[in-house]
Amino acid sequence: MPAEPVAVAFANTRSSPHRDRIAELDQWRAWCDARPGLKAVGRAVDADGLTLLRAARDDVQEVLRAAAAREDPDPAVVDRLPALTRGPAPGLAWHGDRYELTVPEGGSPAAALAHHLAGAAMGLVVTGPPLAVCRGQGCLKVFVATRADRRWCDGAACGNRARVRSHHRKRSGPDA
Ligand SMILES: [Zn+2]
Repeated sequence: MPAEPVAVAFANTRSSPHRDRIAELDQWRAWCDARPGLKAVGRAVDADGLTLLRAARDDVQEVLRAAAAREDPDPAVVDRLPALTRGPAPGLAWHGDRYELTVPEGGSPAAALAHHLAGAAMGLVVTGPPLAVCRGQGCLKVFVATRADRRWCDGAACGNRARVRSHHRKRSGPDA
């Protein structure tokens, strides 16, 4: 299971303005399958549910990025995010060796997940560890600021692209 907080992983499914890693239901299911506690509810989400969850994801990303960059968030988003937790709260089921999220009476799988993920994002920005934004060009990802000198979401991806760009700048000279 991924080590990063689930709210960070959820926000990072929009990794760049043109790259949405949960755009399709099969991508969404793969994301949930990597998190056993969300798998059953996640697999029950339909296309309309995914539309709701992608909108929730955009709001989670906005709130996390504002916290990480210490910049004012969009006030509409700050209103919308807690609203996702006003419906019936998801339940918890013990499955012998782990907990799983369950859909509450009268709720939908997508609403239960939006509730859980919005709550996780709120917990993270209010009492969680500090966050940082990736400095990669065009990268929208955030990460837990475990080290003061960490600059990239992924050194092999964004860090490497930045090193290649810097190398080309040096080779082509200061006037290029
Ligand atoms: Zn990055």
